[in-house]
Amino acid sequence: MISVSEALSRVLESVSPLAAERVGIFDAVGRTLAEDIHAGREVPAYANSAMDGFAVRHHDLETLPATLRVVGTVAAGAAALPEVRDGTAARIMTGGALPPGADTVVRVEDTSSEGDSVVIRAAGPRGHHVRHPGEDIRSGELVLAHGTRLGPAAVGVAASVGRSLLLVTRRPRVAILSTGNELVEADQAVARGQVVNSNAYVLAAAVVEAGGVPVPLAIARDTPEEIRAAFVEAARADAILSTGGVSVGDFDFVKSVMDDLGVDRRFWGVAQKPGKPLTFGMLAGTPYFGLPGNPVSALVCFEVYARPALLRLGGATAVHRPTVRATMDHDVKKADGMIEFVRCRLASRNGELFALSTGTQSSAVLTSMSKADGMIVGPADQRMLTAGSSVRVILLAGEPATRESPV
Ligand code: AMP
Ligand code: MG
Repeated sequence: MISVSEALSRVLESVSPLAAERVGIFDAVGRTLAEDIHAGREVPAYANSAMDGFAVRHHDLETLPATLRVVGTVAAGAAALPEVRDGTAARIMTGGALPPGADTVVRVEDTSSEGDSVVIRAAGPRGHHVRHPGEDIRSGELVLAHGTRLGPAAVGVAASVGRSLLLVTRRPRVAILSTGNELVEADQAVARGQVVNSNAYVLAAAVVEAGGVPVPLAIARDTPEEIRAAFVEAARADAILSTGGVSVGDFDFVKSVMDDLGVDRRFWGVAQKPGKPLTFGMLAGTPYFGLPGNPVSALVCFEVYARPALLRLGGATAVHRPTVRATMDHDVKKADGMIEFVRCRLASRNGELFALSTGTQSSAVLTSMSKADGMIVGPADQRMLTAGSSVRVILLAGEPATRESPV
């Protein structure tokens, strides 16, 4: 058995980003840029007004109030511009191009109109309320670097510099393979002895959330032949998640099939709870996670190991969930000699964050996970997380936001 941090590093050193593909910017959201984007133009492209008001020549405003003759109006989008000479002003709208001769904008609130003229009561320094060409982006500037995870603002920057197609890392296709004679699908009747194949649904959702494309395969019965056939099918994907069959029961054939198929096993067994029987290896170059069958164990192992790996396959560099420190609200017993991921809710009281167990930590009780805001990383050398002590909590929601491994 190896430690959690050793297992995570073996996983991460086994995976690298997939190839890139060119996609429309709407398909690029949430994915990782696989090119540097340099601006082919300046943004803004021309001087324009940051306010609704009047474009003026600053030296006309030496004594206030000043009365200027209004020579025209510039709406946003107008190309024909009046010339602003000494003693004159042009009415201008936000985004309107600064007319020739003008160097400053006075906001409408500091003016009053009198017939064909405007009276300026207050003004800022020369250049006030003018947006200058290239103020946001200079031509040639690197605006989005290779490896950037594309959010809405980044997509907007790409569009602003004229890019509607972007080179991004391919989304990993992830085969989801459920093993077990007892399994039925969600829309089938559940007879005595059977359970719904909930892991497939949980993992498909988790794969989508990690930027992958789930490929759920048919349920494999607990025979070496069916499991072997399923693995051959699964090996066409970019990553494989199997659940069940990795423990030491009489019908746990996954490991012998893996050996048969020549899986390069990188570990089997991790000093953790839940998820001790987790196994990981490479099947003909495809990373393979043998997750335990219990629903909580499967999802916890996905969170800690598979999710960072899928994010890395998708090109991301920041692949870990963010963590926070919290104070234990009450005592929680934990497994001795191994890290325990204790599902918890977080509550803020007077600015201090408290961690509360979600109740039974049985690895078959999926609601312990669905009610959780996070997982306490219970240190291996402690048997009790005592009320009032400080613990680290892996947050189960939100974007991957850190390059630091939580374990
Ligand atoms: P195993 O690891 O195959 O021994 O399974 C451990 C426990 O997890 C058993 O109670 C199984 O019924 C349950 N289990 C296995 N696979 C699934 C699955 N795909 N969905 C829901 N529960 C499962
Ligand atoms: Mg089984």
